[in-house]
Amino acid sequence: MSKNEELREKLLYKAEHACKKIDENEVKAADSFAESYKKFMTECKIEREVVEYVVDLAEKNGFVSFDPKASYKPGDKVIYNNRGKAVILAVIGTKPVEDGVRIAAAHIDSPRLDLKPNPLYEDAELALFKTHYYGGIKKYQWAAIPLALHGVIVKADGTSVKVNIGEDAGDPKFVVTDLLPHLAADQMKRTLADGIRGEELNILVGSRPFKDDEGSESVKLNILNILNEKYGIVEADFLSAELEVVPAFAADDVGFDRSLIGAYGHDDRVCAYPSVMAVLEAGTPEYTAMAVLADKEETGSEGNTGLDSSYMAYFISDLARMQGGVGSIALSNSECLSADVNAAFDPTFPGVYERMNTSFANRGIVVTKYTGSRGKGGTSDASAEFMGRIRRLFDANGVVWQVGELGKVDEGGGGTVAKYVAYHNIDVVDVGVPVLSMHAPYEVISKLDLYMAYKAFLTFFTK
Ligand code: MN
Ligand code: MN
Repeated sequence: MSKNEELREKLLYKAEHACKKIDENEVKAADSFAESYKKFMTECKIEREVVEYVVDLAEKNGFVSFDPKASYKPGDKVIYNNRGKAVILAVIGTKPVEDGVRIAAAHIDSPRLDLKPNPLYEDAELALFKTHYYGGIKKYQWAAIPLALHGVIVKADGTSVKVNIGEDAGDPKFVVTDLLPHLAADQMKRTLADGIRGEELNILVGSRPFKDDEGSESVKLNILNILNEKYGIVEADFLSAELEVVPAFAADDVGFDRSLIGAYGHDDRVCAYPSVMAVLEAGTPEYTAMAVLADKEETGSEGNTGLDSSYMAYFISDLARMQGGVGSIALSNSECLSADVNAAFDPTFPGVYERMNTSFANRGIVVTKYTGSRGKGGTSDASAEFMGRIRRLFDANGVVWQVGELGKVDEGGGGTVAKYVAYHNIDVVDVGVPVLSMHAPYEVISKLDLYMAYKAFLTFFTK
């Protein structure tokens, strides 16, 4: 090695493709982890389905429902199910909870189209649903793709029915229609933001009238009759429902080399899944380990299932109290990886990124010191000390990682749950998987980055 090469090696920082840093066995482990992830992604499209899947998986691994009146010993495993839409898995550590817990906090809601409370109408002998989109979407991306309907309807008698139509082979699909190019001269002059407008995101759900009916709205009547036969619901039951329209495609490999995964809602199930797998495999850790899967991140974390709510702090305080500890001390001693995705560099749109501080697919998990926009507005900026701690931890345990900002300084920006965790005086930094086409109906991530997320969370819980 020449003097120059030696100096380069010693002094320069260089982020590289994970393949240059890991061996063939670890690549194989990543590919195998990706298979179970794809299955999860295809089965769970909305927050309620993730909670159900995770609770079931946790119970099979010896977790029991959290009882605030109980007390737990090291190695005990508990599930805190928040209204079926958010969930915490915790493994009690050997140290007192008052010494702090280790949290990986991801979110399990994704951008989508929610049905309005009174959604069903008929126009021109077509039946349609009105929607109100959820989270930040490019509305034009949601037209002319196959969609599925998921969620829950609470009936007048208080019983509820689960809905999941459009995912199984042979299921009907739904669709937002778009204008044909031949007649779109005016639409094509709209800005992209306006290409399809909010009130144009109407879902086509039927077109055949109820037989022998001469009255008005007989197509709508026929749809209601089908829904009544299938679910026992009437039109007013939509008023007490949460019905979410999501892309109807499965998670699949992308690329000749199968190095990537395309799916709906990697943001943020690509962090939620590995955090769950890590907590399941944490054994009996020194510090109590928690995977927190939150709802409502995409609309700002407000609401009692989002992290701008007290449920996580209450849960940690309860665990501390059971051991005769003090909740506020436990919170103040805790550490959190705010597990959320970041934007991967896209060579087709290089202008919005600043290459030195942007994450790249395949360079491992991205550590985001701060999010926010235009002068770090609205962010929790992790301290140099906590960055240093995470850096040492990852480097010492073979976690391939990189840093990343969300685009150029004045380009845009975003937020995560980090600031709501920081509110409780917990040390927190954003750590997650780089995503291409984030918030699109079909997002893309790298299998190696997914695996590094799992490795990062497991390291954080156990080292
Ligand atoms: Mn996210
Ligand atoms: Mn998001």
